[in-house]
Amino acid sequence: MHSFRQAAMRFERARLLKRKEFAEQIRQKVVSHVNTKLFKREDFPRAFFFVEEMYPEVAHVIRDLTIYKNDNTALWAEMGLTGVAGMYVVPVSMILITYSVNIPDDVVAVHELLHCAHDKLMLAKDPMSQEDMTFRASIPYILQDHKPEWVARHYLLPYYYSIKEKGTVASRLDERDVIASCMEMIEKESGATPTRVTDSEPAMDRFDFLD
Ligand SMILES: [Zn+2]
Repeated sequence: MHSFRQAAMRFERARLLKRKEFAEQIRQKVVSHVNTKLFKREDFPRAFFFVEEMYPEVAHVIRDLTIYKNDNTALWAEMGLTGVAGMYVVPVSMILITYSVNIPDDVVAVHELLHCAHDKLMLAKDPMSQEDMTFRASIPYILQDHKPEWVARHYLLPYYYSIKEKGTVASRLDERDVIASCMEMIEKESGATPTRVTDSEPAMDRFDFLD
């Protein structure tokens, strides 16, 4: 189930993931699950190098991280963690990749590695600025393989919906406005030439959230 309602759920989820007992429960379930795959630095070298180079002070921590992937939807549903492609679980310093429709694993990895670096360096005082910082910092990495339009639609759009929707009670968000905000963010972070997103592509069908 993917809907705008899920945007509001991210705030609830962020609070839940901060709880130590819950985090420990996730860790145990994921580590012992038969479908869990482990990824190391050599599996996503560019994602790791990108973060290590950006934050050399914590490169020694980033370098040794293990990323756990499990795309078993029942497992995540059981824990109430559906509709999110990746998470960094702060109390146990654990990076998780779940399942996604559009976002490749290395993009999830770079996003969550950045969260870890930001957390270790205590760069953000609240979850919202932490999220904003992470989305911005990851843009140059994602632009290596994807066009700005792709980054806007598949990577930033769900996030922008969630922050914009928070301040909206009933009014429907205009997707074009949200895309325009995403493109501004990309241009600012990449120094790219402004581009227009055409309306020819169909409206986004599915959301992949990243926590
Ligand atoms: Zn995030």
